[in-house]
Amino acid sequence: MGGRPLLNRRLEGLGTTIFAEMSALAAETGAINLGQGFPDTDGPESVREAAVRALRDGRGNQYPPGPGVPELREAIADHQRRFYGIGLDPDTEVLVTAGATEAVAATMLALLEPGDEVIAFEPYYDSYAACIAMAGARRVPLTLRAPSFRPDLDELRAKITPKTRLLLLNTPHNPTGMVLTRKELRAIASLATEHNLLVVTDEVYEHLVFEGAHHPIATLPGMHERTVSISSAGKTFSFTGWKVGWAMASPPLIAAVRTAKQYLTFVSAGPLQYGIAEALRLPDTYFDAFREDLHRKRDILADGLRTAGFEVYTPQGTYFLTTDITPLGEKDAYTFCRSLPARCGVVAVPNSVFYDEPEAGRTQVRFAFCKRDDVLDEAAGKLRGLVSYT
Ligand code: PMP
Ligand code: GLN
Repeated sequence: MGGRPLLNRRLEGLGTTIFAEMSALAAETGAINLGQGFPDTDGPESVREAAVRALRDGRGNQYPPGPGVPELREAIADHQRRFYGIGLDPDTEVLVTAGATEAVAATMLALLEPGDEVIAFEPYYDSYAACIAMAGARRVPLTLRAPSFRPDLDELRAKITPKTRLLLLNTPHNPTGMVLTRKELRAIASLATEHNLLVVTDEVYEHLVFEGAHHPIATLPGMHERTVSISSAGKTFSFTGWKVGWAMASPPLIAAVRTAKQYLTFVSAGPLQYGIAEALRLPDTYFDAFREDLHRKRDILADGLRTAGFEVYTPQGTYFLTTDITPLGEKDAYTFCRSLPARCGVVAVPNSVFYDEPEAGRTQVRFAFCKRDDVLDEAAGKLRGLVSYT
């Protein structure tokens, strides 16, 4: 092969995702998996049945329309109106994708030129780094620092250069659980307008906010025409394996993202789209109960981890909780997470891999709490054993 590396140089160093690595470790060791973020209980039966009906009735078993089935695009537009007062044209302003992951990839590939700079929070969700790299652009991190993980907006301003094309936001933020306030969003929006930047906002945890509220930046003046908003059914309806996501934006932005999406998957799985169309029309009681349940689980795990000696950064949103392992006498999150299954039968994820500046997250470890109460209790019990081990 001529000595040339097989892997495209843009993907160099990306290797296996930390989620795949840690889930494989959980499977190998039989440890409780609080690493990768997926619930251990499926979503509503009515949603599953809606997908089954579509399969049986032959709806979506052949290629559905590229932008997504009209029933789902309409349900997405109605959801945005119901929760945020946003008006979207389901035909020109909504695009269904294979999970939020594909929405992020298609958006980056569509909107970026090689050499463009993208400012993104770090710790960042791992696919952002990969997608920015695949587009040939450069990631410029804005570090969120413990304990509050709030963005420093003066630092953000200072990072904007003539090469900056896009701000990549994530609120509620994975892995820290930080939720951007309306004031922060206004400041970010005015920077975007002042410097004529595009904004891409990943809001997959929009229904998991425990303190404060979720505000889509697209609702702020002047933002609709420069913002691509991304969400996904995986988190909100506990069907992460279905991979139904979507992007929402003004018609020219959606047309650009659709151009890239056409050649990634062309279209996403048909019958599942009908299931999610029904899910998005569930009554408010579903969304309230889901949030309250996860809020309670957050507190169960936070208490358990505090008792086990971790420093806990209580998240305002998402179903992840970031901790610091320094009080346990630990110095390196990755080494700690590799050894954790053998030491106490639990798997977690090291946040350090989500930083360009690893020092900022060297001792941070993320735990997922989208698990049954008994599983959280059992994990907390096992982690308490860790103290006596060290
Ligand atoms: N963005 C964030 C912040 C996530 O945590 C995840 C994981 N679900 C995704 C995107 C990917 O979502 P999906 O599974 O719908 O592709
Ligand atoms: N979003 C999930 C998490 O943060 C993982 C999804 C994945 O494995 N890529 O844990």
